[in-house]
Amino acid sequence: MHRLLALLFLTVLPASAETKWFKGNTHTHTLWSDGNDFAEMVIDWYKQRGYDFLALSDHNILQAKEVWMDVKAVEKRRKALGKTTMEKYRALFGDAWVITREKDGSTEVRLREMREYAPKFDEPGKFLLVKAEEISASFNKAPIHMNAVNLQEEIQPLKDLTSIQETMRANLKLVAEQSKRLGVPIFTHINHPNFRWALTADDLAAVTEENFFEIYNGHPMIEWEGDELRDGHEKIWDIANTLRLTQFKAAPLFGVGTDDSHHYHGEESSPGRGWVMVRAEKLEANALTEAMKRGDFYASSGVTLDDVSFTGGKLRIQIRAEPGVTYTTVIRGTLKGFDATTTEVTTPKGDFHPVRKRYSDDIGKTLATLTGPVIEWTPSGNEFYFRASITSSKPHPNPSIKDQKEMAWTQPMGWR
Ligand SMILES: [Zn+2]
Ligand SMILES: [Zn+2]
Repeated sequence: MHRLLALLFLTVLPASAETKWFKGNTHTHTLWSDGNDFAEMVIDWYKQRGYDFLALSDHNILQAKEVWMDVKAVEKRRKALGKTTMEKYRALFGDAWVITREKDGSTEVRLREMREYAPKFDEPGKFLLVKAEEISASFNKAPIHMNAVNLQEEIQPLKDLTSIQETMRANLKLVAEQSKRLGVPIFTHINHPNFRWALTADDLAAVTEENFFEIYNGHPMIEWEGDELRDGHEKIWDIANTLRLTQFKAAPLFGVGTDDSHHYHGEESSPGRGWVMVRAEKLEANALTEAMKRGDFYASSGVTLDDVSFTGGKLRIQIRAEPGVTYTTVIRGTLKGFDATTTEVTTPKGDFHPVRKRYSDDIGKTLATLTGPVIEWTPSGNEFYFRASITSSKPHPNPSIKDQKEMAWTQPMGWR
């Protein structure tokens, strides 16, 4: 098109910003907490694999202070054989980058701070590091972990308030205060609710200050599927969303996919299993955060969506089909007039919730099962909300769950 004509078009067309999909992981550990590799090594792993952004989220720390680590302690974390962690670090970043000292008869290495390593990786429009912390609180030893993404200042968790829910709220409040004080958008996602069976769907429903949870987390110990007495992530999401919309008069939770990776030498808690695709105007921390807050993203453990929209009363999903792979899309939701009765089950000793509620199959009911790469579906109007889970026929290349297939999850829709 002629340049002048293009300019004319731009001025005539209504202002609608161009958006792009950006791939990112918001849950990653390094040597700064209980991960087993240097931050720079971890970032390099993600950048080499085409991620657009990455948030390192170590427990209760931002990478912004002087920290030295005994080299023996560094090596002890690696369970795999082969080259040492220090050898790999030196090979990739060079001896001049690696700072060591001798102290009390031991060799120590200084963990490079984010302000030092970020310029090595950040590239406008291509790759971005976003500040984050896994605020790791607890109530009566039940882990309450939440990732504050685009957090600017370190937060020390508040623990053991009067209940699990009050402990969640107190920490969310710290994040909200910081966001307000600094004028920076920050979002938190509540992590792995079933890790040590800490959080129930009722907890996630009631704490309406929280807007995100991990529909998928790649750590193998997070009980994604639940068990015979306790709900898995899919059902937890549906219960929490139904309770929010019907009882709490609050917005449903958005679902993120993450890695929660700790190990980078081939061990079990490895990177690359789960991520988010965010539709934003630009690859900047505030723009990504605002897009997440709008719900303009989906979670994935392998399936890519070229488009997902709900306009004109119709849901449309365009799956990026791979040759020889089939796709099944399940639309789940809760209909008006659903069976809201609950039963109670007594859980095994050691569960933080000795009695748990079970909800009916009407919650998160299958409303449609569709196949193929192009999905079009019209809700009846009787739904409190609906959402889509897309499952591929392709086995996950690095499963965290037995017989895992690649998936994608849209956000809940039809509730606004
Ligand atoms: Zn955690
Ligand atoms: Zn974690």
